[in-house]
Amino acid sequence: MKRISIPIGTSGQELVYEPDVLRHFSRNRQFSSPSKEAGGQLFAKFVGSSIRIVVATGPYPSDKRTRVSFAPNRALENKEIRSMFKRGLHYIGDWHTHPEKRPKPSAIDVASMRDCFQKSTHRLNFFVLSIVGNEQARLCISTMLCNQSACILIDEQH
Ligand SMILES: [Zn+2]
Repeated sequence: MKRISIPIGTSGQELVYEPDVLRHFSRNRQFSSPSKEAGGQLFAKFVGSSIRIVVATGPYPSDKRTRVSFAPNRALENKEIRSMFKRGLHYIGDWHTHPEKRPKPSAIDVASMRDCFQKSTHRLNFFVLSIVGNEQARLCISTMLCNQSACILIDEQH
């Protein structure tokens, strides 16, 4: 699986999904009807003008998952953020799956990213939200940048 590089507006920065992250997304797609949403956190290295997502974590047994919702264990996630930081990896956002081919963020997704952005201590201009669809033939990912006021779709892989 090849890395995916997405330009971030006209900032000159790029967001990169490394192959391990794409494989993790791919493994967790929701094909069968009883399968539940999966998700977790995204961790990146900042290399020059590139934000490289090198680790996608979760899901964990303590997450609350249904076919159409995903509520992670936030206490565990906060621990994870601290331990990744010690390894030089920065929390930059969340990912989860949707049982649809072309994944669109729900109103809850947008509200929860906004909430997370406001409540977290960080120096980022945005958080990333990646939603993974359930297309079999290829990996479909909708990538959004979210801050306190909006979530903007910057890329759709179909
Ligand atoms: Zn969602």
